[in-house]
Amino acid sequence: MKRILITGGAGFIGSHLCERLLKEGNEVICLDNYFTGSKENIIHLLDHPYFEIIRHDITAPIMIEVDEIFNLACPASPVHYQYNPIKTVKTSVMGAINMLGLAKRINAKVMQASTSEVYGDPEIHPQPEKYWGNVNPIGPRSCYDEGKRCAETLFMDYHHQNNVEIKIIRIFNTYGPKMDLNDGRVVSNFIVQALLGKDLTIYGDGQQTRSFQYVDDLIEGMLRMMNTPKEFIGPVNLGNQNEFTMLELAKYIIELTGSTSGLIFKPLPKDDPKMRQPNTALAKSMLNGWDCAVHLREGLEKTIEYFDSTLRKKAARKKVARV
Ligand code: NAD
Ligand code: UDP
Repeated sequence: MKRILITGGAGFIGSHLCERLLKEGNEVICLDNYFTGSKENIIHLLDHPYFEIIRHDITAPIMIEVDEIFNLACPASPVHYQYNPIKTVKTSVMGAINMLGLAKRINAKVMQASTSEVYGDPEIHPQPEKYWGNVNPIGPRSCYDEGKRCAETLFMDYHHQNNVEIKIIRIFNTYGPKMDLNDGRVVSNFIVQALLGKDLTIYGDGQQTRSFQYVDDLIEGMLRMMNTPKEFIGPVNLGNQNEFTMLELAKYIIELTGSTSGLIFKPLPKDDPKMRQPNTALAKSMLNGWDCAVHLREGLEKTIEYFDSTLRKKAARKKVARV
């Protein structure tokens, strides 16, 4: 049994990781400040004898004894990371320093949840790990993109200078149950809008592309990466190679929900990447043939079911409150 710390464990991806690591017989400590995460995501785990939660902000140091650390704490949706950009930089940079310092002191292995955003608005397509990216250092997305890039630098420097055992993964757009209703990212926005019969908000002309990975595929990749030999530190891309325009995604979600919603066009946010698709050759070769197994249709159906039930529960609570 390993004792594992998951920062950002009450968030969308973190809560799936908590579940999976507990299922595999580990002791899991979930650390979160609940900025974008929620106790709802982990409440069903509270009775588990090997599950613990700590309310803490990773911009402050913490001392705790664990074997492995998954560093996920950071708001991931543009709406949330732009809400307090200085805090976003602090979370990525000071959070990385605190987690790496901890890993160094207690001799733990530490994984950084980096992002495809380190490639910015890419000029190489699909994006391989050796591409250095095209990131605006002074734009609205910079707090997230540059914070994550600096965190990768810190991980490499702690590894080379202090021999800390590290793993870096670059996560591409991931979706699934437990995303927040008001998360602001495209999959949750479109599904919630479709279920409520509201027009789906297309930013720009909707021709920009993304490649969507179902959360279970990501978690599988993360665990395989954590268990690779010490010498393999990454960075490694984890994402689905199926690429869609936002218009295609909107039409697909309307079809799957059977919604009567239409489309409404809104301005494209500044520096919104025009295209994104991972080159996953490295992941396939280093992670025992890892690949995404969940088709977009299957993943979206599960996610729609989740949002449908969450919206119904919310409506029922409102009704009770009115009575
Ligand atoms: P999320 O917002 O649901 O989860 C982030 C979690 O971190 C939340 O529970 C939040 O409360 C917590 N948190 C934020 N700041 C914190 C702080 N200072 N101290 C402690 N906890 C803090 O987002 P997610 O989609 O689950 O993303 C998890 C990680 O994966 C993030 O690091 C994100 O950058 C990375 N990532 C996600 C995607 C994606 O598509 N979901 C893509 C690329 C990278
Ligand atoms: N997007 C959209 N409508 C929305 C939310 C997002 O058209 O309601 C677009 C957004 O402009 C971007 C893409 O969908 O081009 C993915 O956005 P998201 O915020 O999910 O992730 P990211 O831009 O970080 O990849």
